Amino acid sequence: MKNNFDLIVIGSGSGGLAAAKRACSYGASVAVVEEDKIGGTCVIRGCVPKKLLVYGGLISKSYEEGTSFGFINKVNKFDSKILLNNVRMEVNRLSLLHENSLKEKGITLFRGFGVITDKNIVTVYGKDNSKESINLYAEKILIAVGGQPISIDISGKELLWNSNDMFLLDSLPQKIVIVGGGYIACEFSSILNNLGTKVIHLVRSESILREFDKDISQSLANDMINLGIELRFKEEIIEVKKQNNQLYIKTSNEQSIISDGVLIAIGRKPNLQRLNLERIGINMKNNNLDVDENFQTSLKNVFAIGDIIDGIKLTPVAVEQGRLFADNVFGGKKRKSNFDFIPKAVFSYPEVASVGMTELESRKVFLSKDIKVYCSKFRAMSKSLSKKGPKCLLKIIVNKKTDKILGCHMIGEQSSEIIQMASIAISMGALKSDFDLTMALHPTISEEFVTMY
Ligand code: FAD
Ligand code: NDP
Repeated sequence: MKNNFDLIVIGSGSGGLAAAKRACSYGASVAVVEEDKIGGTCVIRGCVPKKLLVYGGLISKSYEEGTSFGFINKVNKFDSKILLNNVRMEVNRLSLLHENSLKEKGITLFRGFGVITDKNIVTVYGKDNSKESINLYAEKILIAVGGQPISIDISGKELLWNSNDMFLLDSLPQKIVIVGGGYIACEFSSILNNLGTKVIHLVRSESILREFDKDISQSLANDMINLGIELRFKEEIIEVKKQNNQLYIKTSNEQSIISDGVLIAIGRKPNLQRLNLERIGINMKNNNLDVDENFQTSLKNVFAIGDIIDGIKLTPVAVEQGRLFADNVFGGKKRKSNFDFIPKAVFSYPEVASVGMTELESRKVFLSKDIKVYCSKFRAMSKSLSKKGPKCLLKIIVNKKTDKILGCHMIGEQSSEIIQMASIAISMGALKSDFDLTMALHPTISEEFVTMY
């Protein structure tokens, strides 16, 4: 088998696949090294299976609301084994699609753990780091190895689940403790609550989603509580024990909880521990790989993208970094990207989405008197018959001096879809007067963004 390439990509996740395919489109000979299924975090144990579980939860909610639309006496028995199994089948289908697409493009796939052993050499070790290994040679190497969940060092830590484990469960637990106040904790709290699991959610500080606008995260916290999630602030997990197939959890508030499982979601760290990159002269910066604006590391022929470099760690960011790298290094372009307005969404229930500055950030960057905030809170029409369920909150942050929209934030149905479109306008430098001049589309939730005064 050929072992000499123009580019070796280590990692077949969102960033690695995007870079490999784009470099190949310029005629480069490309190899991809992957130790697991093809597709990376997003496809195998992240965005995709998570969003499918979110849809499952929404179906359950729609059954609940169905009575006010005349759907009565429906028996809706939920079997989580079917859902989890179907999600896994879909993930396998997508992974195979990616694998076939590499084949079709003539990209060579090496299965195993890749380590850069010299400037131009990637050594691929077989499963369980066996002695069997193969050396691959390339002019350029791209590291796109992504991240993994951070674990917590408490007694009984081997009994805890992380987000990877959630997708491998045979069935969903009846009762769970979720630790963390970020994306993953809030998403799983909502998914599981919607699917009938009793959720006790422990947050170490006084608020969830601290990087989001305060009104929005506060609104989500209230909604989660109203929807039956036991959201406990300033409480940490101290110890876990197992007895008779049940977990006994001790918390910092001297509370003892019995549950079927504990999900720890307290952030992620780059998959760099086993690569020993500093040995070959690649510098780190705050646990990430240190790269310049061209994703070049301190070793000039080695590049890095995605969740292992500083910045916002989301799939579209990794994909764009991969394409940008390939366009500039193999396509001879001098392209730049705009990473200033990266839209973000938390697929909680209700959904949260945001682009641009929060109110607090804007008041730090500009004079507080120059900031104008527009807000609208209302119940979506879909909930007007049942008269229950979370309300929508839409918020626009404007610089009064320039009339420029600095941020758009939302909680409620379809937030992610709406904010994706708003981010086009904001990336183009939209003014509040542009939003005001835009005709509304009625009856929608998003029309509020162009009718707020
Ligand atoms: P990854 O996709 O993690 O790919 C890295 C690949 O490298 C993996 O396949 C890994 O097996 C492989 N690898 C690692 N080390 C080696 C080695 N030495 N040799 C060979 N192979 C190796 N982002 C969003 O934008 N939207 C979402 O809704 C969203 N939901 C998420 C939900 C969850 C539960 C999680 C955990 C993440 C979510 N993310 C989401 C984040 C998103 O998945 C990541 O930002 C994205 O996958 C990063 O892409 P990447 O290419 O950097 O790395
Ligand atoms: P986040 O970085 O989103 O949040 C981490 C949370 O854990 C924070 O609330 C933090 O609290 C808390 N925390 C940190 N350390 C501890 C500790 N020792 N004990 C208790 N709580 C702790 O991490 P996630 O794991 O939720 O997600 C990782 C990343 O994956 C995200 O940042 C995002 O990039 C990506 N992701 C994106 C999704 C999406 O786009 N929808 C979905 C899922 C993941 P504090 O606020 O006090 O620091």
